[in-house]
Amino acid sequence: MKLWGDYKHPVLPCQALMMYEGLMNTQKKLIAGNWKMNGNLADAKALAEALGNPSNADVCICPPYVHLGVVATAKSQGIALGAQDCSLKDNGAFTGDISAPMLKEMGCSYVILGHSERRSYHAESSTQVAEKAKKAHAAGLVTIICVGETEEERVSGIQNQVVTTQLAKSIPDTANAQNLVIAYEPVWAIGTGKTATLDDIKDMHAVIREFLKEKLDNSSAIRILYGGSVKADNAKEILAAPNVDGALVGGASLKADQFLTIIDAA
Ligand code: PEP
Repeated sequence: MKLWGDYKHPVLPCQALMMYEGLMNTQKKLIAGNWKMNGNLADAKALAEALGNPSNADVCICPPYVHLGVVATAKSQGIALGAQDCSLKDNGAFTGDISAPMLKEMGCSYVILGHSERRSYHAESSTQVAEKAKKAHAAGLVTIICVGETEEERVSGIQNQVVTTQLAKSIPDTANAQNLVIAYEPVWAIGTGKTATLDDIKDMHAVIREFLKEKLDNSSAIRILYGGSVKADNAKEILAAPNVDGALVGGASLKADQFLTIIDAA
C-alpha cells in the first residue's frame, strides 16, 4: 500500500482517505482519441506527430485500421496505439474483418469495443462484444468496453439498469484489472455537443464502480472513462469528478490543439 508521502503530487486529505480505502484509482488518467472514419493518410501522420510525447496522462489514439501503420511510425513512444473494433474470430473466411492478433502485430495495445455506433449501425450485441473482448484479451490487448443509455432510456429513468445489463453481458470472464477499461458514453451525448451533467456522470460512474467491485478482483484499478462531447473547455471539470479516470474523445481528438488541452487537463 502506498503512503500519503509516496505520491509525487500534493494529495488532499479526502483523496488520501479514498486512496487508503481503495476507492480512488491512483493510476494516471487515460485519454483515448477515437478518430472514427476521418482523414486521409497525410492527416493521420500529421496529427500523430503533432501530439508530441505527453507524459502527464496515458494517451491512446485509435485511427482507422488502414492508418494504423503510418500512425504507429509517426507517433511518439509516449502514445499508445488502439483500434476501433476487432473481429470475434482469429482468422478465416470473414471478409472485411480484422482480428485481434492482427491488431497486436500492427502495434496496437488497446481496442475499443461495443461503441454505440457499432451497437446501432452494425447491430452488435453485448454478447458479441464479450466474444470480441475474449479474443482481444487472448491477443494481449486492453479492451475499452463502451456502455451507455439512449436519450429515451434516460428519460424513462432506466439508465442504471441499461448500463449494468450491458456491463454484465459485455465483460467476458477473461477480463481483469489489467486488461479492462470501461467507457461510459451516454448515446445522446456522442457527437451532439450535449454533455451529461456532472451529477449524471458522478452517479453513473459510481454505479459502474460498484458493479466492477462486485464482479472483479482489484477492481479499483480498472479505469472508467467518460465519453460524450468532451472538449478543451469542459475536460478539466469532467476529469476532476469522482471515479472519472479518463476520457474517450471523438470529435475533439481530431484537432491536435484541442486534444492536447484535454491531455493537459488530465
Ligand atoms: C465517441 O465517439 O466515443 C465520442 C465520445 O465522440 P464525441 O467526443 O465526438 O462526442
